[in-house]
Amino acid sequence: MNHCIFCFKSEPEVKFSQEHLIPHCIGGNLILDDYVCAECNSNFGTEFDHKILKKPDIVAALSKLKIPHNRVKLINNNFRVKVFICGIEFKGRATENAIEVHSKRLEDGSLICPETEYKEPLLKGILRDQRLRAAGLTEDQIKEEFQKLTKAYNKAEVGKNVIWPALGITLVKRSDTRKIKLEPKGSDDVSRLVAKIAYEFGFILGYRDFLLSEHVAKPLHSFILTGEKQPGFHITQISTSFSDFVPIHFISFQTYEYMTRIIVGFFGTLTYMLIAPPLEHKIFQQIAEDNNCPDLIGVEYQQDMHKKTIGFWAILPDGTYKYIGG
Ligand SMILES: [Zn+2]
Repeated sequence: MNHCIFCFKSEPEVKFSQEHLIPHCIGGNLILDDYVCAECNSNFGTEFDHKILKKPDIVAALSKLKIPHNRVKLINNNFRVKVFICGIEFKGRATENAIEVHSKRLEDGSLICPETEYKEPLLKGILRDQRLRAAGLTEDQIKEEFQKLTKAYNKAEVGKNVIWPALGITLVKRSDTRKIKLEPKGSDDVSRLVAKIAYEFGFILGYRDFLLSEHVAKPLHSFILTGEKQPGFHITQISTSFSDFVPIHFISFQTYEYMTRIIVGFFGTLTYMLIAPPLEHKIFQQIAEDNNCPDLIGVEYQQDMHKKTIGFWAILPDGTYKYIGG
């Protein structure tokens, strides 16, 4: 009878579900069927999987790959959008087409806003200006002057002032080069997610033998459930030799005499390395026998996002790879 690999409960106490190793929300295809109960699956879904959507490079990769996704909602829900124009910070939000920038009132009372968005707030401000009404200008006259002002502004060179005495206004034309920064709202630490992926991948490779490994599986299990780092475990974000946005998810599992190394990569841009004490070699001996790879030291899984191919490669001690199926 199956037990959930997280809570160890079995049917009929719990119902089993399909668990995605790499979160489904970022296109993960590798499924663990009937070994994770619905309750654990759903808890992890909300707790860990969505943290990956707080990683700016994941969001950037999702958009570059044009994966069907509600990106606008994703960005606005998970990030503070900051836009820098001429070194000045503006708040912003994502819309269907672009990042919209909010105008900003500086300490001296002047209004600063992106060139594409200055007209509406500026006109509103001018129409509310009591000094112009006191000077006898009607609303239509103000609007007419405003038209002239914006025409003069459009013709002006960057860095020049456009002075408009009729409205008592000076516009400063600055460069409109934007730098957009996405700042995650709340925690974006994905180390427990990485640990969960490593644990489940270990289970795919070694089945029940993996769960019995004192050095790797048990400390991983307790880190996943409690968030408490286990002695001897390190999870670090690493840079890879991949160029940006390589459309691949991968998990690499290698064991040496002195350590076990698990690398989890999302799109090639965001890669984590988990170092744990050495895993008992029993699992690899079994896989080696099953796949006729006597020198096996590790297994790598790769998923191509475009072709939707899934494959397992064996890593041999001399560093060469051998395809062992998908
Ligand atoms: Zn469970």
